[in-house]
Amino acid sequence: MLAVEYTTNYGVYLVEVERDPAPTYREDVRDRMFRRTGDLKEELANLRLDNMPDRRPCDGSLPGCYNMVWLISPEEAKALREMTKTRTEKAEQRRAEEARLIAIESGSTPCPKCGSYCYGDCGAQEN
Ligand SMILES: [Zn+2]
Repeated sequence: MLAVEYTTNYGVYLVEVERDPAPTYREDVRDRMFRRTGDLKEELANLRLDNMPDRRPCDGSLPGCYNMVWLISPEEAKALREMTKTRTEKAEQRRAEEARLIAIESGSTPCPKCGSYCYGDCGAQEN
């Protein structure tokens, strides 16, 4: 089953899970315990708790550190990927704007190679 795993410390990931059939779990939590299957672990960067599906309660959790798991449809996975893309682009724009303002305040000039205030990470200082 497709799922989104939210952790406070390690990020948000698109994963595949199945219900963990371990009989050691208490009956009242057993159907909320999942384990990962397959290799899918795709980071969904820049998402927050209030970006989780429909803001509905989570479906359970995976073993390990504190996390929450929502079972999601392929459409919801697509929407989360798009949200990651949008929020990452906005975060990059904010960082670039901050760098530009800081550079202006400190009297720097734009990079001769890329024209932004890149501090040389565009490769301008490699040669
Ligand atoms: Zn540059």
